Amino acid sequence: MSKDLTERFEKYADLIIKVGLNLQKGQRLMIRAPIEAVELTRALTAKAYDVGCPYVDVTFGDEELELIRFEHAPKDSFEEFPKWRVKGSIERAEQGAAFLSIAGNNPDLLKDQDPEVVALTRKVASEQSKPFSREYISNMRVSWCVISAAVASWAARVFSNEPEHRQVDLLWDAIFQMCRLGEPDPTAAWRDHIDALERRRAYLNDKAYTALKYTAPGTDLTLGLPKGHIWKGGIDQNADGTTFVPNIPTEEVFTLPDCNRVDGMVSSTKPLNYGGTLIDNFSLTFQGGKVVGVEAETGREVLKKLTETDEGAARLGEVALVPHSSPISTFGKLFYNTLFDENASNHVALGQAYSVCLEGGEAMAPDDFARAGGNNSVTHVDFMIGSDEMDIDGILEDGSTEVVMRDGEWAFEA
Ligand code: ZN
Ligand code: ZN
Repeated sequence: MSKDLTERFEKYADLIIKVGLNLQKGQRLMIRAPIEAVELTRALTAKAYDVGCPYVDVTFGDEELELIRFEHAPKDSFEEFPKWRVKGSIERAEQGAAFLSIAGNNPDLLKDQDPEVVALTRKVASEQSKPFSREYISNMRVSWCVISAAVASWAARVFSNEPEHRQVDLLWDAIFQMCRLGEPDPTAAWRDHIDALERRRAYLNDKAYTALKYTAPGTDLTLGLPKGHIWKGGIDQNADGTTFVPNIPTEEVFTLPDCNRVDGMVSSTKPLNYGGTLIDNFSLTFQGGKVVGVEAETGREVLKKLTETDEGAARLGEVALVPHSSPISTFGKLFYNTLFDENASNHVALGQAYSVCLEGGEAMAPDDFARAGGNNSVTHVDFMIGSDEMDIDGILEDGSTEVVMRDGEWAFEA
């Protein structure tokens, strides 16, 4: 590895441990990483111990093993799931551990596999992980952070026009740029950025709009916001009150829509990579919160299957605002990776809503959460709807409207 890359991993690891996880002395850390990110994982592990972490648990994964499973495992074995991992995560969570997930995936890994089996595998994984993912991650009881690492298969997809030996380096360059690591003091740059997000969400929380109205080519959507919705973004707090930044990079402020008050049509502005299938140029029509029409130039069957995963998969669980001028959007590339692509654009998600986005939501049973407008589902899939042609208005309690975004940019001062 070049000296330059070693230095950059050092900076990246510093940012993630200190700002992303804000790892505290005495706090344990669990890391899930692709095998190709071994150097970065080592840098992170060293940083964690340096701030006084007593133990770092690392699980390396090789996604080729997933493909091998699809190709070789018995056809009736796809309900199998390693529950011990969930138990282990819960045990660590109960000890107050922080969780770091390093994403680096081949977007095409499962493209030739049976969509039914792919959907089943996803469903089993989300259902079985729920005791951990819902109770600790979605509810923000523990500190967690999702970051990414350049891996060859992913880099080949993003930089397909570049020579093979350059692709991984180019993807690392892009990741470092999106993460503001070129700034003289990346940690300070991040704190400023997070403050700005904080001001936007405070403004929106103050307004307490009852709905947002979206207008753009192919989009005419009114999206209800439930009473007591809370805009989140940038920074969060775990059960002990320690702050952390769940995603690096992050550019969004988000909340939950009222899952029964979404009406009209919304069109995608970027492809959605779902379980290895690329769904492109699609639109969804909503009535009373529910998807009643699915159109797509490519991947319509997979999209339709996705909305049929369960009752909540045909309703929205997230609404997020991201200015079109975000660094990721300006970079102008599709990353085939939600962490990047969702931060390039205004988006919504089908499926589970974050209970922390509703006043008292964390303490609510799923039924009560649903009655308050919160969506329940085993799935949560973001898709991009923003562009420089998107206008968004906020509708106040008395029916009057105010500008929120014009031509894809914030239209209010905060
Ligand atoms: Zn989002
Ligand atoms: Zn999301």
